[in-house]
Amino acid sequence: MRRALAVASPPVGSVAPVAAIEDIPVGAVLYGPDGEEIAVGRNERELSGDPTAHAEILALRRAAAATGAWRLEGCTLVVTLEPCTMCAGALVLARVSTLVFGAWEPKTGAVGSLWDVVRDRRLNHRPEVYAGVLATECAAVLRAFFR
Ligand SMILES: [Zn+2]
Repeated sequence: MRRALAVASPPVGSVAPVAAIEDIPVGAVLYGPDGEEIAVGRNERELSGDPTAHAEILALRRAAAATGAWRLEGCTLVVTLEPCTMCAGALVLARVSTLVFGAWEPKTGAVGSLWDVVRDRRLNHRPEVYAGVLATECAAVLRAFFR
């Protein structure tokens, strides 16, 4: 989760484009079955002008490109904020085995807050979930952004 937090908030003066600062700081890291980092993603909706450019989606796409496979079985996605319906759906479709998230998102969260997409028994794949990991630190990054 500390790695995901670092991805969410690049250090001041880093190579991140100025526009990236406009994006809500959410970071995601995708780890392979052996624990090796495969891909990272940061929310880039403003930067790319793409409504689907959430941190999780970008990490999943990059991981699939890096491994050459859309099935990410055995992989773990770590993200600083509870995924939305789109991202929760995407990680089910990608067969991600484990989801770890930080802060809860009561307004749009789809991993227990508002919906529970990843534990819907009607779906054929349900990742294991670890919620609220470093939740206070993850929420603090978001609060600082909106201040
Ligand atoms: Zn999302």
